[in-house]
Amino acid sequence: MSHNTHTAVELNTKEDFENYNFREKLKRAQRPYDYYKEIKDLDFEQLADSDRFFLQDFGIYNNSLDDEAFMLRLRFNAGRVEKEQLKEIAQITKEYALDIVLTARAGMQLHGLEAHNILEAYEKLKASNVVTWQSFGDNVRNITTDIFDGIGKQNIIEARPIIQQMHKFILKNPDYVGLLPRRISIGICGSKKSGTSFFASDVYFALAEKDNTYGFNVYLGGKNTELAQDANIFLEKHEVFGFFKAFIEVFNKHGLRLDRERNRLFHLLEEIGLQNFLDILKIQYKKEFTSKGETLIEKIEFEDFNELKDGTYSFCYHSKFARLTPKELENISNYVIENNLEVRLGTDQQVYIIGLKDKNIALKHDNENRTIVACAGSEYCPYAYWSIKDEVQFLPLDKIQKNKILIGFSGCLRGCAKHEHSDIGLVGLKSNYLGNREKTARVYLGAQYTHGKALARRVFNTIPLHSLKEFLTLIINEYEYSSYNTFEEFSNSVLNRYSIEFLNVWFLAKFKTKKEVYLNDFDEEKLIEDNFGDIKYSNMQESIKELSKQLWAYKQSEEDKKLNETFIMDHI
Ligand code: SF4
Repeated sequence: MSHNTHTAVELNTKEDFENYNFREKLKRAQRPYDYYKEIKDLDFEQLADSDRFFLQDFGIYNNSLDDEAFMLRLRFNAGRVEKEQLKEIAQITKEYALDIVLTARAGMQLHGLEAHNILEAYEKLKASNVVTWQSFGDNVRNITTDIFDGIGKQNIIEARPIIQQMHKFILKNPDYVGLLPRRISIGICGSKKSGTSFFASDVYFALAEKDNTYGFNVYLGGKNTELAQDANIFLEKHEVFGFFKAFIEVFNKHGLRLDRERNRLFHLLEEIGLQNFLDILKIQYKKEFTSKGETLIEKIEFEDFNELKDGTYSFCYHSKFARLTPKELENISNYVIENNLEVRLGTDQQVYIIGLKDKNIALKHDNENRTIVACAGSEYCPYAYWSIKDEVQFLPLDKIQKNKILIGFSGCLRGCAKHEHSDIGLVGLKSNYLGNREKTARVYLGAQYTHGKALARRVFNTIPLHSLKEFLTLIINEYEYSSYNTFEEFSNSVLNRYSIEFLNVWFLAKFKTKKEVYLNDFDEEKLIEDNFGDIKYSNMQESIKELSKQLWAYKQSEEDKKLNETFIMDHI
C-alpha cells in the first residue's frame, strides 16, 4: 500500500475529535438511528442545527436560511410507485396545498409544509408505507435504473430485484443510517439503450457482456461535476449485491471525514488512487475481481409512446419542468387505478404510465418539452440564484423540443441538474461583469455523456438572461445546419474541435452581426477572417470582451433595479 493510502486511512482513525466537521461530530455524539424516536416530540418552531441535520436522514428538510419552510423527500425503489400510494400522496398534497417537485433521482419532493403540519403530513405518508428515510444526508440515496427496467425491448437484465436487495440492506440499518462519510448515489442499468446517463453516479453498474454472459461493468467516483471512472471489474448479476455490501463497508470505514467539501467517493479515489481503493475493496469482497467485459450502452431517442416487450405501450407524462400540481397527481393516480396501469418516475423528472393497449391516453399534459432537467431553483432551494422553473421560459423551448436536446439547468454550481452531463448545460448566476448587476448564465457545451467519455466544457461565462434565448438559438441553429443526428454527435464532431476562445468569438460575432454563417471549416483563423474580417484572431481575449459588451447594453428593468440594490455575490 502506498504512503498516500496510509495518509487517507489514518485521517479517519485518529482520535482528534476537533478535526472532524460539525456533522461528523454529531454522528459521534448520537447515532441518527437513535435520534429517530425524538422526532415525535420535537418543537419544529425551535429547531437546532443539529436537529436539522438529523432530520435529513429521515427525509425532512429545513434550512436555517428559511426556517419556516419544510420539505419532505420521498424515495421510490427503482422509481416504481404503487398506485394506491400515489393516490395517498395526491390526497396529502391536496390537503396541505403542497408543491410537488420530481427529482433527478426518480424521487419526489413535497414543498410548502410548515412547523405546525410537518409532523402530521410525515405520519400520514408513513402510514401509507411511503419511504422517506435516507433520502437526504450521508446515506445511500434512492437507487436509480432505466425507466424501462424489466419491460423495455432493450432490457437484458432486470435491475429491480438487485435494487430491492440493496434497499433492504441499507434502509433503517442502524450501522449506516446517516453515518456514511457522505452521500452515495448508485445507478444500475440492465438495458442496452437508456435515456439516462448514469456516469454522474458514485457507483454505476453498467450492462456489459463478457464470455457470452451478461452482467455489469463497474464505474466509480462520478458526481454532478465528474465522470465515474472505469474500475475494470465485471460482475455477474448474482455478484452485484455482494460487491455493493463490500463497497459500502469500505467507503464507510475509509471515506474522508474531515472536510465536507472533499468527502465524496471521488475525493477518496483522488486521494488514495483507484487501484489502492480496489485493493482494499477486494479484501472486503473476499474474492478476486474479474476484469471488465464490453459495456453495452446506446443512446435512446426521446419518444412520448414506447412499445414494450409485451406489446403494450408506455406514455411519458411531461411534468412542468419537474413540477406537478396535486390535481395532476390525482388525475394520474385515478387514471392508472381505473385502467389497471403501472406508474414509474424517471430520472428525467417525468412520469411514465406503463401498460397501455395502444398509443392512446386520455391524460393530457400541458408542457410539450420533456428534455429539460431543471433543478429546484430559488423557490425551493436556498442556494439558487434563479427561479429556474420560471426562467426556463427564457430558453428557446420549441427548438429544444424539436431537436430533442438534453438541457441540464442548475441553479448553482452544485449542479443538481447535471449540467456538465447534458447537451447544453446552464447554471444560473448573477454578475455585473460588463454592466448592471443581473442574472447571467454559464453555458456548458460538448458533453459526451452517453458513454461517459467527457464532461461538457464551460464555454460561455456570463450570458445575461435577456440575451440567453437568442444566444442559445444561434448555437442550436449551428447544430441544425450540420448533418448530425444528435446534438451529442454534433458536439463530438464539431464543437469539441474548436477552442473555447474561438467559440466565444464566433457566436458573439454572429450575435452582433446577425450574419447567417456556419462552421464549415476547422481552421479557426480562416473562419474569422473570411466571415468577420474586422476581428483580430491574434487577440481573442480582447475581442471576446469587446463583443460581449453588446449582450449587456440594455435599459435596466424594474426587477433588475431591485436586484442591484439587494445583491449578494458575484460569480464570473
Ligand atoms: S443546483 Fe444548487 S440551486 Fe439547484 S437544487 Fe442543487 S443546490 Fe439547489
